[in-house]
Amino acid sequence: MTPVLAASEVTAGYRGTPILHAVDLELEQGRTVGLVGESGSGKSTLARTLIGLLRPQSGRILLDGADVTALRGPQLRALRRRIQLIPQDPYASLNPRMTVGETLAEAIDPRRGGARRHADAVARWLETVALDAAAAARFPHEFSGGQRQRIAIARALAVEPEVIIADEVTSALDSSVQAEVLNLLADLRRRLGLTMLFISHDLTVVRHVSDAVAVMYLGRVVELAARDELFERPQHPYTRLLLDSVPDGSEVRAPQIVAEPPDPRSPPPGCAFHTRCAVHHGLGDDGARCRTEGPLLAGGVACHHPLRIAS
Ligand code: ADP
Ligand code: MG
Repeated sequence: MTPVLAASEVTAGYRGTPILHAVDLELEQGRTVGLVGESGSGKSTLARTLIGLLRPQSGRILLDGADVTALRGPQLRALRRRIQLIPQDPYASLNPRMTVGETLAEAIDPRRGGARRHADAVARWLETVALDAAAAARFPHEFSGGQRQRIAIARALAVEPEVIIADEVTSALDSSVQAEVLNLLADLRRRLGLTMLFISHDLTVVRHVSDAVAVMYLGRVVELAARDELFERPQHPYTRLLLDSVPDGSEVRAPQIVAEPPDPRSPPPGCAFHTRCAVHHGLGDDGARCRTEGPLLAGGVACHHPLRIAS
């Protein structure tokens, strides 16, 4: 099956300096892929590249199998409707001077908007995100942060895009509100079969809404697996490190080198993770390959010495 959206060997960054390095990622129809990684690993850069805000330095972005990397002008604007980004700050996607009804009507039909003309559809989208129809007459600032994020989700859905990219959509919310918005997204994923890239630095959050999970480290996808597989049997030492940093009450911790991540603009040679990798440090001289040769993603993991699955 052709993926709806795919990044193929995408290298991208800012002012000629690559942040993403040969990233491969595929989104299949009706599936949600979680993208996780520490702050600065390049998650938002990948999101910007996928929606056409940032042009890859090399590699391709494929939408329904067609290369959209070189689109400009009206074609690029048309692409922007087919992939909707929900940002961390809903104010970034909501016009403060438009009522919620006007915003949703414009999303439904950009040429013939108007909250009254599309009142029924507006009400349905509000209901979809569990907001009262009366919300249509109000302005974004009249809502709480969680409600505003629901409106931003409704706006993205109302465009009826092929793909939704949610970038840290719950990160700015209080934890109780965060759970509320997450439950809504998990529910929408099931009910509407969303094709979604769900980005978060928080593994717990990603686990909640994803079918598969991609782990990013310094601009590379280092592990890609079905959700339960990844959480139960991580193969990459970095995934292990991320999982161990999630408090789960267990006492047992794998030995880890917990250092600050290197500067993404000048990643270490070889495997970019080797400077923090407990497996590499344990190998001594046998780990030379990690310092010289960048591992490719194979069998779901980009590592010369993946963790063995205990049986
Ligand atoms: P994440 O979303 O995973 O936190 P980002 O994609 O935002 O990571 O950032 C990855 C790297 O790219 C960081 O080193 C960041 O400083 C750099 N970066 C992000 N945006 C810009 C920009 N507009 N100009 C230059 N560098 C940027
Ligand atoms: Mg980000």
